[in-house]
Amino acid sequence: MQTSFLRPTYIEIDQQAIYHNVFETAKRLHDDAELFAVVKADAYGHGLVPVARVCREAGATGFCVATIDEAMALRSAQITEPILVLGISSPQTVAIAAAQHISLTFGDLDWLKEATRYLEQTANLPALNLHVALDTGMGRIGFTDQNQLATAVTQLRQSKEFNFEGIFTHFSTADERETTYFEQQLAKFNAMMSVVGERPHYVHVANSATSLWHQVCHANMIRFGIGIYGLNPSGNQLQLPYELEPALSLYSELVFVKHVQAGTAISYGATYHATQDEWIGTIPIGYADGWLRRLSGMPVLINGQRCPIVGRVCMDQIMVRLPEQLAVGTKVTLIGRDGVDEITAQEVAEYSQTIHYEITCGLQDRIPRHYL
Ligand code: PLP
Repeated sequence: MQTSFLRPTYIEIDQQAIYHNVFETAKRLHDDAELFAVVKADAYGHGLVPVARVCREAGATGFCVATIDEAMALRSAQITEPILVLGISSPQTVAIAAAQHISLTFGDLDWLKEATRYLEQTANLPALNLHVALDTGMGRIGFTDQNQLATAVTQLRQSKEFNFEGIFTHFSTADERETTYFEQQLAKFNAMMSVVGERPHYVHVANSATSLWHQVCHANMIRFGIGIYGLNPSGNQLQLPYELEPALSLYSELVFVKHVQAGTAISYGATYHATQDEWIGTIPIGYADGWLRRLSGMPVLINGQRCPIVGRVCMDQIMVRLPEQLAVGTKVTLIGRDGVDEITAQEVAEYSQTIHYEITCGLQDRIPRHYL
């Protein structure tokens, strides 16, 4: 989508907050452990390359992304540190990854066979770095069977096409108070690891929640994602052991203000009628920007006061009820602080019955990002 610099709707990214969140986390790791910054999905909506640069300064020694294209965007920006693609990439694309020293993930023997076939057709490529995914209970990707894992590890070690760089799993309930399932996954991981023999360079199990709330042994790298952006992985179920600072704010301004009489209908479907004479303001953001249609009724902050969205969210505009007549051009805070009040991504998520991950990832590139 076209980034709309000439519209007064913008995101501010606080680089100091990102620095703080990564630095404070990295310094709590034990000596031989590393922090890889998870910057997939445009750094959860915060901007891939600028975020990666701050993370690197703050102590990240590698990066995780979801696709080879995201990894290549980092390489084009002179990010030379290790980059791991967390998802499964097509075996047809392995040569591209090998050429750019991008590490890939696999989780079954068929993939390894196919990848070998493609790499054998190429010449003069560096060995492809591979991480083995173990499915210990997430039910997404990875080996579940010890014998197949053992076969894969043997094949990796015998092959000159591959470098067995890492092995990992992913916990599905690390952000919850109840730990039984987490412990079952950990036990399965340790059982699977018993057939691996000598450990590869990276053994990693921790996303943000795991690194914050679980002391997990036998790992020497964490895949730190949502914590970079200052958001509590659990929403508000669990308390953070140290402070994380939210990095993203979303602002706009009033572009149209009108006085309406009681009974006047607002927006599609005429679902809202002014209950008395009211001041209504229009703000240039809508569901095409990621401000979800189900946010009708959610407040925004104007001059430190909460003003509810009235009527349906349109594709590019929303209307809010104002406490009084306000000037066109008045600043509007959709996520962030205004005076003593604050609207957090978590509040927006709760209102729209989702998680804050989806809110920040969903903010479209039509909204420009400004880096403070
Ligand atoms: N590791 C894997 C395999 C993931 O899929 C993700 C995110 O989806 C992460 C780490 C980072 O998780 P979080 O953002 O909760 O730290």
